[in-house]
Amino acid sequence: MPAGVVTASYIVASILFILSLGGLSHQESARRGNVYGIIGMAIAIIATITSDQVSGLGLIAPMMIIGAIAGFIVAARVQMTAMPQLVAMLHSFVGLAAVFVGFANYIDPSIHFEGTEKTIHEIEIYLGVFIGAITFTGSVIAFGKLQAVIGSAPLMLPARHWLNLAAGLVCIWLGIAFVGAESIGAGVLPLIIMTLIAFAFGVHMVMAIGGADMPVVISMLNSYSGWAAAATGFMLSNDLLIVTGALVGSSGAILSYIMCRAMNRRFLAVIAGGFGTEGGTAVAAAEDAGEVTAVSAEETADLLSAAKEVVIVPGYGMAVAHAQHVISELTQKLRSAGVNVRYGIHPVAGRMPGHMNVLLAEAKVPYDIVLEMDEINDDFPNTDVAMVIGANDIVNPSAQEDPNSPIAGMPVLEVWKAGTAVVLKRSMATGYAGVDNPLFYRENTRMLFGDAKDSIEAVVKSLT
Ligand code: NDP
Repeated sequence: MPAGVVTASYIVASILFILSLGGLSHQESARRGNVYGIIGMAIAIIATITSDQVSGLGLIAPMMIIGAIAGFIVAARVQMTAMPQLVAMLHSFVGLAAVFVGFANYIDPSIHFEGTEKTIHEIEIYLGVFIGAITFTGSVIAFGKLQAVIGSAPLMLPARHWLNLAAGLVCIWLGIAFVGAESIGAGVLPLIIMTLIAFAFGVHMVMAIGGADMPVVISMLNSYSGWAAAATGFMLSNDLLIVTGALVGSSGAILSYIMCRAMNRRFLAVIAGGFGTEGGTAVAAAEDAGEVTAVSAEETADLLSAAKEVVIVPGYGMAVAHAQHVISELTQKLRSAGVNVRYGIHPVAGRMPGHMNVLLAEAKVPYDIVLEMDEINDDFPNTDVAMVIGANDIVNPSAQEDPNSPIAGMPVLEVWKAGTAVVLKRSMATGYAGVDNPLFYRENTRMLFGDAKDSIEAVVKSLT
């Protein structure tokens, strides 16, 4: 493909990626956004592999076919509950690709730069490999934490900030040695040592972050993977990769900011780690807090039939139970009986940004009754029944009431202010942050124990 056509294709693909991001910001337009993204990526791939710069199609084609088949199988098989892990795993691939491209670019004998251009090119390589290596191991650890292969409690090494600082300083020193190296042979060693340090840094950074901060980590790694791609774009002088990487990097950064605000946390405090530790005073306080009151599905149905205002608060347990469709059925039933049913969505509910919205949209819950936390929180005192479905951390009053709680300061949905709060879960187990929840012991709280889907099916049956 001639260079002019490639450039034009890149511009079209860039525009489609921007439209895609715009579309993905609203549920109504998300599907369209996805289509723009798919078309943009198809144009980008075709233009790149048919450009004059790219050779070795005989090798690229089988690799692409293998990758496409593997991607198709994984995407077709993945459960909605495992989607966050998949996203973390995909981020790790971007990071590893940046590391490989960086090394390949450095040792490629056909690439020659002199003077300032050489220095700039080497800085691009060094930064690309550095960000890529952190993204790779950080994402692998995030995958492990989300998959529960690694515990969600933060790893608090003694003097961990000093360790990080020392690693940072050594990497700067190695960078100076790398950029000033006379030959490729002399530059490879500092590059390899820095890569190993960056791998360790990525592991340490995410290991130090507690369960409650994981939403920020996921969006942060998303952002890093974008910057790693942008750095790769600079190395390869590929404008589209620079634009795409910058789009992913900056949208991930904005998402991290939104997540931090949703949790009332400062970004640097998140990176420093430790939030959402196991234990804390909330556990002890809750143990002394008294009895829990269990209810049956029939009693819950009676409460709902007598209500005028109902707010449903879904959490991660709704995704685990695949309860969204039966919740949608319950909603229709109550609405046709004249009950005003609305949903309250916490920004960090579930295990990935927008998790609940995606599931509710899949179950065809009308968008206009699905409200953000800020839109609905003031309405709980006028709500007859708040139904908490598989949610825990996002409705924990100790975030507001106990300054010693590990999640103190995190905004939560104030379901305890409703006439009655019915909590659907299987046991008294804690949520992802590992913090006990005093909500369960409140006088106006009723616990409907069992799998959320089974419980709601029983409630729906009792309503008829
Ligand atoms: P939580 O993890 O706090 O609680 C989920 C609850 O669901 C559990 O207490 C569990 O209790 C219950 N549950 C699990 N399976 C079922 C089932 N089949 N039926 C009924 N209940 C079930 O989830 P929340 O959504 O309240 O909060 C999200 C947490 O995850 C926050 O701490 C957030 O920081 C973190 N997080 C969020 C991410 C995001 O991007 N949104 C990413 C990573 C972490 P039991 O076992 O007793 O049934």
